[in-house]
Amino acid sequence: TIGMLAMDKNGDISGACTTSGLAYKLEGRVGDSAIIGSGLFIDNDIGGCVATGLGEEVVKTVGSFLVVELMRQGKSPQQACEEAIGRIVNKPNSNFKDFQVGYVAVNKKGETGCYSIHQWFSITKFQDGKNEQIQSDYFNK
Ligand code: ASP
Repeated sequence: TIGMLAMDKNGDISGACTTSGLAYKLEGRVGDSAIIGSGLFIDNDIGGCVATGLGEEVVKTVGSFLVVELMRQGKSPQQACEEAIGRIVNKPNSNFKDFQVGYVAVNKKGETGCYSIHQWFSITKFQDGKNEQIQSDYFNK
């Protein structure tokens, strides 16, 4: 997945995501990227989130919506991404060692966060005229 979040000079938030889906997927499978609330969710009053990784796990937790709702409750984008990953990895019998999920989020203040289950999830942040390459913090250290 390529997920994008943007905030314009008026503070309006938008987002998009694109994906090739899952390798060897079943014909007719619909991944998270195509489902608003799972692979992508924006609430212009609160913030936005995009997801990447195993779509089935994102759909089951309505992940991007969850991240935005956690920000609505006062969590920072980083805290919200970490809690949403926690919902996946802390499920009883979660086999998270076998798959990746990552979230990127921005809130209305322009603060950002990102978190993934495993490493090597890279994010490019462009803010105040500067490009920054960020590697997400991750759960499975
Ligand atoms: N999230 C996508 C899917 O499950 C896969 C990806 O990260 O590109 O369809």
